[in-house]
Amino acid sequence: MLSDALVIDDVVIPAGTSKTVDIQVARLLSGTLIHMPVHVFRSEKPGPTLLLSGGLHGDEVNGIEVVRRMISLGILNQITCGSVVAIPIINVYGFLFFSREVPDGKDVNRSFPGSPNGSLAAQVAHTMATKILPVVDMGIDFHTGGASRTNYPQIRYDDQDPKAIEMAKAFQAPIAMGSSLISGSLRACGQSQGVPIIVYEGGESLRLEEKAVKEAIRGTKRFMHSIGMLEQSPKPRGLKGRQKGDQKAIRHISGNTWVRAEASGLFSSERESGQAVREGELIGRIRNPYDSYSVKVHSPMDGFIIGHNNIPLVHRGDALFHIGKESPWPESES
Ligand SMILES: [Zn+2]
Repeated sequence: MLSDALVIDDVVIPAGTSKTVDIQVARLLSGTLIHMPVHVFRSEKPGPTLLLSGGLHGDEVNGIEVVRRMISLGILNQITCGSVVAIPIINVYGFLFFSREVPDGKDVNRSFPGSPNGSLAAQVAHTMATKILPVVDMGIDFHTGGASRTNYPQIRYDDQDPKAIEMAKAFQAPIAMGSSLISGSLRACGQSQGVPIIVYEGGESLRLEEKAVKEAIRGTKRFMHSIGMLEQSPKPRGLKGRQKGDQKAIRHISGNTWVRAEASGLFSSERESGQAVREGELIGRIRNPYDSYSVKVHSPMDGFIIGHNNIPLVHRGDALFHIGKESPWPESES
């Protein structure tokens, strides 16, 4: 939004000021009103409006902590142009109940664009789609792995969208991965409104992971610097044997696949996220608790572990390791 007026839920936020807008979403069963607090930071100088959001899945605490800490550290008060719209928790219901979903069991990130009279998830999605997305130019949405699976810090972007590719490159997460838009997701809804949104994934739900939080903040600051919003940028990413700041210093991954359990039992890992693996390498074991069988888990290919399961009790078919191959970025040279 290059115009001077930024209006969210009928609240006017003038350039050069910051304000918190409490958007009323719905009520708890007790009658208590549920609000989604939206923190807005505006520079005097015109520029783009960036959305930073967490807690779309209410139990994904690392993302919530990233946005909270960016506010708390005063980073968003230092912007030299444009505006930031920061929402630590989109799904306040899920947060209250330690849950990914809203209480009716629906996933807000599959309920976009939502509707004012639809399910609870549809109402939360509708609030974002009608009150937030129309006033922002681009977004970074912070997530973690779900259901005891951890994700190595990574950016997921729409590889059909040159703007999203540029955002992923500027962020410089340890891993970047093209991922197609899922129908009903915030990313897909953003794209339909001309708002590129990249997703950061780091760590696991209901578990704070400092490394994942710090990587997210560094990457966000790098991106904000790249669009002229911050004067300072963290150091460019380095990778052993590769030039710092070079795009090759980010592992760009594709051809990713989940290695699933071939048997039920007690699972133990021999490898973890962030490690390179060779085809056929032993990466885990599944043992029967009465020691009547033991199954080895092997990597199906040469690649890099980008996520793994942390729960030691697995059924046949459960996801154990997320492995991808390093690959070049899609063509869209700037
Ligand atoms: Zn999520």
